[in-house]
Amino acid sequence: ASFEDLGLAEPLLETCRKLGFKKPSPVQREIIPFLIQEESAHILALAATGSGKTAAFALPILNRLSMDPYGIYAVIISPTRELAKQIHQQVLALGSSYNVESALVVGGMDMVRQSCDLSKKPHFLVATPGRLGELLRGPSPPYLKHVRYLVLDEADRLLAANSGFEKDVAELLLHCNRDKRTKCQTLLFSATMTRSLENIEEIAGAGQGRLPL
Ligand code: AMP
Repeated sequence: ASFEDLGLAEPLLETCRKLGFKKPSPVQREIIPFLIQEESAHILALAATGSGKTAAFALPILNRLSMDPYGIYAVIISPTRELAKQIHQQVLALGSSYNVESALVVGGMDMVRQSCDLSKKPHFLVATPGRLGELLRGPSPPYLKHVRYLVLDEADRLLAANSGFEKDVAELLLHCNRDKRTKCQTLLFSATMTRSLENIEEIAGAGQGRLPL
């Protein structure tokens, strides 16, 4: 299979070519057509770093964003600053043909600046849970009710008992509208299947479209 077979819009195919992506990775072959097709299913994908998972979720999100851009479109959280930064950079590279805006919200960086970036309603918000939690509990939290995709990168680490992330992840889930009438698809990526993921499947209502990879 080639990228052309996955259902992506031409500008995104052009970007993949420019980035030197010749063939979709296995996780991309599974997830990209699935998410283009499915407007409401949640997924749990077992995929490690290096498998091409970032493009596997970013490309179908960008594909839909190009048809219906509105407010903060996707929130992606990752357990470490470094991973969040890499995802933010990949989102900008993959979304370059659409002039996509992404805000990186991680600890150790200026919170006033981050809050200002968020007030401009970027399409993507890529964050570590701690800093995002602080902003969400602050005086002017980013408005997340229209978020269309919620991505938990390294979900096993984010949701592990005593990870220290529980309070912040719970805060984020509260802010995202998971009302059945509106659409917010939850995409969980994990290197391993753990018990903590079984819990989030319940919390997020995920599991209908489970893709074991
Ligand atoms: P990830 O697993 O998302 O951390 O991606 C690992 C690296 O592989 C990133 O630097 C991507 O730019 C790159 N990459 C993702 N998909 C492809 C592909 N289909 N072909 C070549 N490189 C890719």
